[in-house]
Amino acid sequence: MEKTGTIYLVGAGPGDPDLLTLRAARLLETAELVVHDGLVSREILAMAPATAEFISVAKQRARHTLPQDDINALLIREAKKGRDVIRLKGGDPLVFGRGGEEAEDARAAGVPVVIVPGISAANGAAAAAQIALTHRDASSIVSFVAGQCKGLSDQDWSGLAGKGRTLVIYMGVKTAPQIAEKLMADGLAPDVPVAVIENAARPEMRVVRGLLAGLPQLVTAHKVKSPALIVIGDVTARDDHSIANTAAKAQETQAVT
Ligand code: SAH
Repeated sequence: MEKTGTIYLVGAGPGDPDLLTLRAARLLETAELVVHDGLVSREILAMAPATAEFISVAKQRARHTLPQDDINALLIREAKKGRDVIRLKGGDPLVFGRGGEEAEDARAAGVPVVIVPGISAANGAAAAAQIALTHRDASSIVSFVAGQCKGLSDQDWSGLAGKGRTLVIYMGVKTAPQIAEKLMADGLAPDVPVAVIENAARPEMRVVRGLLAGLPQLVTAHKVKSPALIVIGDVTARDDHSIANTAAKAQETQAVT
């Protein structure tokens, strides 16, 4: 019987190949099979040998993302054929990456799993936009939440944002209006500073800043597209973009829409 291969759940970071771990780079350089998401940049995929097989499980125009169970089954099937599987994911595999589900199924099927961490979008975006997620003068708590439609209204975010706290919202571009509404309904002040970081750690990165009440307009006026993160809290207004400056910009933005 063939020896079972190992499934490597590998974080590809936010996009810049320089932000890969050495371990991820080494695994890619000797990869035979790479199963990847849409968020993994071309430059990173190009680090695998030309002889490697690539399977994309990304959303494509013609079809939706492979259902998660099918992805898990694919990884297990390929590993059982005896080859190592490099399962490459944007950011960190265990932060909104479903790495936990893939690892659980693989372990249940008796396939060895190794997890290689990556720089999550929050860390990549914070560094690129020079926003300190924690700061002794402004924030000692940071939370990561998912802002996509499904289940948004059921999620309890109370206490996650506000004075002394930083809230980082993944997958929140489309739901920015509901997010702003939800946070203000929880008692957050409309003038809490926010930043939206699109394509963090990529050449086309953009950072737009404003205030919570103007978040939906900020996103529409600047035509922000996924992948982008929304960061909420005083830490987003500590650098040269002073709060006054941000307020002026938010008004400008509102005038545009
Ligand atoms: N596992 C990933 C997150 C996957 S969820 C990680 O740890 O980063 C996908 C969401 O991540 C996107 O909708 C976006 O909110 C965020 N994201 C991923 N890459 C990003 C980037 N380069 N810039 C901004 N946000 C990004």
